[in-house]
Amino acid sequence: MYDAIVVGARTAGSPTAMLLARQGHSVLLLDKATFPSDTLSTHLMHVPAMAALKRWGLHDAVVATGAPPHTTFTMDFGPFAIVGQPPPFEGATSPYCVRRTALDEILVGAARDAGAEVRTGTGVAEVLIEDGTVTGVRTRDGAVARARIVIGADGLHSTVAKAVGAKAYADTPALTAGYYAYYTGVSRDGAEIYNLGDRTVVVFPTNDGTAVVFVACPIADFPDFRADVEGNYAAAIARVPGLAERVANGARTERIRGTADVPNFLREAYGDGWALVGDAGYHKDPCMAAGIMDAFLSAEWLAAAVHAGLTGERPMADALAEYQTVRDERFLPYLQMTVGLASMEPPPPEQAALFAKIASDPAESTRFFGALQGSTPIGEYLSPENVGRIMSA
Ligand SMILES: Cc1cc2nc3c(=O)[nH]c(=O)nc-3n(C[C@H](O)[C@H](O)[C@H](O)COP(=O)(O)OP(=O)(O)OC[C@H]3O[C@@H](n4cnc5c(N)ncnc54)[C@H](O)[C@@H]3O)c2cc1C
Repeated sequence: MYDAIVVGARTAGSPTAMLLARQGHSVLLLDKATFPSDTLSTHLMHVPAMAALKRWGLHDAVVATGAPPHTTFTMDFGPFAIVGQPPPFEGATSPYCVRRTALDEILVGAARDAGAEVRTGTGVAEVLIEDGTVTGVRTRDGAVARARIVIGADGLHSTVAKAVGAKAYADTPALTAGYYAYYTGVSRDGAEIYNLGDRTVVVFPTNDGTAVVFVACPIADFPDFRADVEGNYAAAIARVPGLAERVANGARTERIRGTADVPNFLREAYGDGWALVGDAGYHKDPCMAAGIMDAFLSAEWLAAAVHAGLTGERPMADALAEYQTVRDERFLPYLQMTVGLASMEPPPPEQAALFAKIASDPAESTRFFGALQGSTPIGEYLSPENVGRIMSA
């Protein structure tokens, strides 16, 4: 009998397992994947994600993978661009875009080093439920493991969420589709995001001197886009001044990959004997590049709640209820913003005017990036008083 079984060992599961194991709990961490391995995702980490890695003692190992710091951030809206350096947060200074092959392996290793029992290549086939309480899992090889809590960190199509019937709320179906590939010869000194109306083009420098180049389109365009991925991907890149030349002068190092499976929702985060963390409990369009940061933050909140429940410091249900409240209060405003951006509609005139005003002031641009990355709550930044201050400056 373990204290906790964590299903899924990437950006949500490994930190949750690590933090619980570091507090002395017996933890089994399972993943059907083996590591190192890639997953379908670009992988920008905002500064607060790097700060979480710092708190966990993993920042330097992640930086040592060789991905460059993003020293500028550019959000280009055509007539104007918001350009600046996101503000430092708790000693972390730059966003980084680290390949998941490298990042996830460091996270799994940290869970193992903390004392979690790690079984990779081990899929969970069944969640065991007795009298309405989750008591353990059966893996595909038929083995049974039991625990006081089973944590689903198993991503969008979570087996745990399905088994317990966790309901989604604040949900909006997928609004975009996206395709990406890696190129040498394209990187500049930071992240570039080009809003072209019916396309968004993103460039994130990453490991091995490459940059990931991502193109998103509205979901309505997905069938046409998919009919000629190569042509549509190149056509979007050609609309960004200078980018087609950079891409042509470099070399693509991997095939183009893509997905339209990007729904937006929160799911009930806990019940008797179970909890959800990461994409399993909160999934959204990748346009804010926040999934990894949000998984890290949720892992910390959940590990603290589970620790309180396991030690008897608080009733488990109370601790988990607070976890869900904290998660939702933090992420709901970002989910709303994500849905707005992912709709790829032209911004309402007031918002366009606000963005133009922000773009005209470098200090304000930095504050804006601070709100986007969550180091200042977005609700506070977009409050009528603050918007009034920006517009009258
Ligand atoms: C196109 C795209 C681009 C993105 N770009 C960014 C970005 O730039 N920055 C950012 O922060 N986020 C980005 N995201 C989001 C980010 O990828 C996710 O938020 C993040 O991976 C969530 O981590 P997770 O650990 O919750 O889930 P996952 O990374 O999905 O990991 C879940 C794990 O669970 C395992 N698993 C599933 N079922 C089982 C089972 N039954 N038994 C055992 N194991 C199981 C899987 O093998 C997997 O390893 C992007 C997403 C997409 C789709």
